[in-house]
Amino acid sequence: MTYNKENIFAKIIKGKADCVKILENDYILSFMDVMPQTPGHTLLIPKYDTEDIFNLPEEYFTFLMDAKKRIARAIKKAYEPTGVMIMQLNGKEAGQTVFHLHFHIIPRKDGLNYKFHSSDPVNFNELEKEAEKIKKWL
Ligand code: AMP
Repeated sequence: MTYNKENIFAKIIKGKADCVKILENDYILSFMDVMPQTPGHTLLIPKYDTEDIFNLPEEYFTFLMDAKKRIARAIKKAYEPTGVMIMQLNGKEAGQTVFHLHFHIIPRKDGLNYKFHSSDPVNFNELEKEAEKIKKWL
């Protein structure tokens, strides 16, 4: 499949679609998932046009890993979950639905009913409140 420059995450990078930001630099952007599986569900993407992990240039990995670590730690402080899930899907057969490489960072608690995908959008005011909880600990 060829990378579609009009996918929603490409639009977010270019500022053509809104998001609630968590962290940003020249290489990465992190923002709240609009259909969170749990409160605090955060996404992390490289600012590079690729659908999956296989074509990402090496220099991006360090920035992604560093951001993942910072966000996961902040989520742990903000929500005090018993677990933090970091997930990344490559290809529709793996369950990927947005075809710009992204990582999910999701606070998990014992007994929490986990949905692989959610279809319940949350409004931006609610996402801003969750974002503030996380950003405090970055
Ligand atoms: P995946 O199934 O790994 O491709 O996950 C795509 C994720 O993107 C899902 O968790 C969606 O809820 C999320 N998503 C889709 N559109 C948006 C958007 N406009 N802003 C934030 N998250 C989104």
